[in-house]
This record gives sequence, C-alpha cells and structure tokens, in this order.
Amino acid sequence: MKDEFILYPSSLIIMYHISREIDFCYGHRLLNYRGKCCHLHGHNGKVVITLEGTELNSSGMVLDFGHIRKVVGQWIDDHLDHQMILSRDDPAVPLLQELGEPMYLMDANPTAENIAKLIFDFVAGQGFPVVEVRFWETPHCLATYCPDKPAGGIMRSPQE
Ligand SMILES: [Zn+2]
Repeated sequence: MKDEFILYPSSLIIMYHISREIDFCYGHRLLNYRGKCCHLHGHNGKVVITLEGTELNSSGMVLDFGHIRKVVGQWIDDHLDHQMILSRDDPAVPLLQELGEPMYLMDANPTAENIAKLIFDFVAGQGFPVVEVRFWETPHCLATYCPDKPAGGIMRSPQE
C-alpha cells in the first residue's frame, strides 16, 4: 500500500514556537494541604511562556522576545515578584494586610499549577498567541498549563 500524504494550507499549520523565560521570587502557603508548603515560605520561581505562529512578521519573528519581556515581565514584576501569593480565603491575609506586607490574592490555592494558569490567562488576555506556560516552583518541580485550543488561535463559531 502506498503512503498517502495530505497537504494542508500552510496558513493552518503551526510552524513556529518561541519561548521566553522570566524569573521571580515569591512567597506563598497552601490551604487544605499537609506538608512543608502549608506554612508561609518562599520560592525562586521560573516561568517559561511559549507562543506559536503560523507565519513570521516583517522582522522574521513570531513576536519580539523583548516585547514579551516588557509586557509579561513588567506585569510579573508589578504583581507577583517579591509578593506573598495567597488564596483570598487564607486566614493570614488580614494579619499581613495589617502589617502592610505586599500580597497577590488568588481565588484558587497558590499551587504551581494555579500560578501557571494565572500567568497563562494574563498572557492570553494581552492577545499574545500563547499555547503553554511552564512554571517551576523549584528546580525540580514543574507545572505546565496548556489548554487545548484550535491551531492558530481563537476560532469563532458561525453564530458569532
Ligand atoms: Zn511552596
């Protein structure tokens, strides 16, 4: 039997992925959890944001790495870096607020998984073609958030 090849229009094939790494320090603690992370403590976190593209811009890029750093890095610097990332339900929040400690409050437990999703949602909200966010809580512990979506970005239904 002969091999059959199906040719797709090149505009539908994701041919480029680019990734930008950003480091930041943060504190947190986990609710509903027994283990070291149930106490206030800190991590040196690392996030790698991956974007995709079907074609390159006139500069030969999916997106300028410097632009990703400028937009996403600035948001991380302003909201997550050197902050206590806590659940809104954490009983430590009122006390830390009283002490004037900087905090970033989440609706979810501040696990590596939820921080990866938090960053993904911010990047997607900026209109960047993000496909995956990998977040290292420690050099040995990695969470990846990569929701399924149609190739090439947002696909609208015929009703829209
Ligand atoms: Zn921890």
